[in-house]
Amino acid sequence: MNIDHFDPFPSSFSIPPVSQLENIYHNMLRLFTEDGPDAGLLIENQEEMEQMLREGRPLFSRLSETAEFIGFDVIFETFSQLLLHQSTPAPDPFTLVSELVSGREDYWEDLASWWGVEPAMTAVLGTLSAKPYLLATARELKDKLDFSLWQRPRCPVCNAFPSMASVDENGRALFCSLCETEWPYSHPGCVFCGCLDAARVVRSEHGADALWLDLCDSCDRYLKTTDLAQSGPLLSSTTDLETLDLDVAAQEMNYQREALNPVGIRDIG
Ligand SMILES: [Zn+2]
Ligand SMILES: [Zn+2]
Repeated sequence: MNIDHFDPFPSSFSIPPVSQLENIYHNMLRLFTEDGPDAGLLIENQEEMEQMLREGRPLFSRLSETAEFIGFDVIFETFSQLLLHQSTPAPDPFTLVSELVSGREDYWEDLASWWGVEPAMTAVLGTLSAKPYLLATARELKDKLDFSLWQRPRCPVCNAFPSMASVDENGRALFCSLCETEWPYSHPGCVFCGCLDAARVVRSEHGADALWLDLCDSCDRYLKTTDLAQSGPLLSSTTDLETLDLDVAAQEMNYQREALNPVGIRDIG
């Protein structure tokens, strides 16, 4: 693979600055288009998948240890060179994807001590390397399944928490920046802790009419929300990255982001 045409990456072992995030994300998409898997990792049986949605089981829980991660070594090596400027021993892709969707912090610490880099950096490298498979799976499922069967606050495909919400005349939808799935969610209140107390779940004055922060004083988490009826931006990973000013505002007020962003970073600072 020729990586010469990639935009430059930072030359240290530290978290990339915010200004680099969109470049990194677009590099990942380019790599995905060139070398990513054609097909997702899930079973074909639509009835079984819809039954899982009804029962509240995320689809990735059906990921099989025999799933084929075609091209993983090349993708991992490319990101290792781009981010760390070195070859790094590749983790087992099945374990990587399983840990990524389970959100266990210990895994990144284990990888960090194995690789000798910061845990936050392992999350970026791990997220980018796993993402082509998550995206391929989610794209394949998008047109096949009715996600309104789900109605839960975590992603129906990968089980991550949402990074953003949208509202319009049909109600609320949530978006997962890890696998890029969007799903309808009609319940009111905080999506993270379920708090329904309107005095504790408030809309922040940061942002504009069509884009704001829902801040929860019960669990100290926030959710960026776009109003599509007011021409707010559509839910996408690009929108998540382009609205970093809202993340900064929320985190400066000591609210926490629950979901990793599209390149594997949670805390902006
Ligand atoms: Zn997801
Ligand atoms: Zn809450």
